[in-house]
Amino acid sequence: MAITDKIYLKNHRQIASQLETNIPKGAFKGATLDILFQGEGLANLDDATQDRVLEFATDFLDCDCESNPHCGHPEEKFIAYLLELREGGLGPDAIVDVMGDDYMLYAYPGDVLSFLDDAVRTLEAVEELAEVEGYGSAAGAARDRKRRLS
Ligand SMILES: [Zn+2]
Repeated sequence: MAITDKIYLKNHRQIASQLETNIPKGAFKGATLDILFQGEGLANLDDATQDRVLEFATDFLDCDCESNPHCGHPEEKFIAYLLELREGGLGPDAIVDVMGDDYMLYAYPGDVLSFLDDAVRTLEAVEELAEVEGYGSAAGAARDRKRRLS
């Protein structure tokens, strides 16, 4: 399962009652994206929640794809956001705190940790492959990125 399948709405119950409909807890579940972030849903939320939901929509759901928000870009952008926080020196617990402050989302720190470990392992594989194939600068780039994530 991708890390974006393990990102949850922090105030899920409150949101569901404001929307007067049941939505999944997962922030990137299809029904959540449809109901919460589009049209009418938004108007029924209290101001504080609305602000965060709008922030989320602006930062992650802003592509022009026809299938938006089901085009995969929101997930990609969110993964980039997590990696940026890590490169900024944050550990899993702090990353969870920040996503709570920014977007009222939460994840389990253990899931964030395994996501970060996987990212480092992927970069290691890229680095090795690039070295074997003689792509020195690609290997170097992977090595730098890995160092920033470790
Ligand atoms: Zn898109």
